[in-house]
Amino acid sequence: MDDFPPYPAGLRLAGREVVVVGGGHVAQRRVPALLAVGALVTVVSPVVTPALEGLVGGGEVRWVRRRFESGDLDGAWYVIAATDDHAANELVGAAAEERRIFCVRSDDATQASAWTPAVGRHAGVTVAVLANREPRRSAAVRDEILEGLREGTIVARHQRDRPSGVVLVGGGPGDPDLMSVAGRKALMEADVVVADRLAPRELLSELPSDVELVDVAKLPRGRSAQQEEINRIIVARALEGKCVVRFKGGDNFVFGRGYEEVLACREAGVPVTVIPGLTSPVAVPAVAGIPITHRGVAHEFTVVSGHLPPGHPESLVNWSAVAGMSGTVVLMMAVHNAPAIAAALIDGGRPDSTPVAIVCDGTMPTERTVVSSLGSLKEDMVAQEVRAPAIIVVGEVVRVAHPRHFS
Ligand code: SAH
Repeated sequence: MDDFPPYPAGLRLAGREVVVVGGGHVAQRRVPALLAVGALVTVVSPVVTPALEGLVGGGEVRWVRRRFESGDLDGAWYVIAATDDHAANELVGAAAEERRIFCVRSDDATQASAWTPAVGRHAGVTVAVLANREPRRSAAVRDEILEGLREGTIVARHQRDRPSGVVLVGGGPGDPDLMSVAGRKALMEADVVVADRLAPRELLSELPSDVELVDVAKLPRGRSAQQEEINRIIVARALEGKCVVRFKGGDNFVFGRGYEEVLACREAGVPVTVIPGLTSPVAVPAVAGIPITHRGVAHEFTVVSGHLPPGHPESLVNWSAVAGMSGTVVLMMAVHNAPAIAAALIDGGRPDSTPVAIVCDGTMPTERTVVSSLGSLKEDMVAQEVRAPAIIVVGEVVRVAHPRHFS
């Protein structure tokens, strides 16, 4: 008999009588779980713990204040033998067996007709683990499963609850651990994922195999044609009834064209929601050890796109105003135009000794920081072969982080 594994079943005990024999700590642990599923609980024991007595006082539990008699099991569906007396548990087990009532034994599982699994619940899912009568192991397995469900590394798809539509998910600066729990969950529940080059790509390998992955880096080039194609894909898939995740690096609304996608969805009547991401101009300096504000050093930080050089007819940036401020300037998409931007900032009044840090591949295994100054930025970037993606931090906060470089 011992060689067989247990047959798992979910007992629906609501409104059904359950007898717990014993009033000590085992009973105290089991009774609340029984009450939580609606069981009608009777405790049979001459004495009970204060906690159990409280439940009795509150009318939630019936207490038969004496030693066990086999007639106590009449009408019961399930029995827990939880006294600290082996002979008494034996008696309960025998009486249960005779009546064909499943019985858990706290003293000797090999003699029991039922075992209590390690139990946990998450979002409507009950996890119950039986690990060959090793309670620590079953608790550990249960904890792992619950953590996986919470973090989204285990996908519990519930198609019915998940409406079709588009979710814009910000993936953070690159390290998959820096993505939000909500974002991860949405990603794992998606039918279609439309992913950018800078999105944390390691996470894509974890997607279930039936998920359609659209890699934007492989779409035909040309910025506006590409964006139109993305808009078309996300809208079309959502209209097919699918749950679409638009997955980008950082935050979708920070130089991510996210709102164009929102507008495209709205126009097509497709529901669209947003899960923000940790944006790189904030996260990358932080991980590299550079504070973008520091008490007594910078009272503001300005994030500027450097994809167009100063003076470009389409530029919306007032570079002389940026130069005129005294706080931190964080430049994105600026590797190509950095020398022209440095010149514009110096022209606008920033000293050419102003410290600059360039953080390449922030939060990724290849991350590195090049420390420079506005005056020598051009040469240093060439000498250090700086490549995108990079965050360029301009201002005295860089000196705070790298004092020795400037002494
Ligand atoms: N939506 C993104 C930004 C997209 S624009 C966000 O919120 O972070 C692309 C620019 O972001 C790059 O040119 C670079 O300046 C910056 N960037 C994004 N991820 C980066 C990283 N891991 N390291 C350095 N710079 C990064």
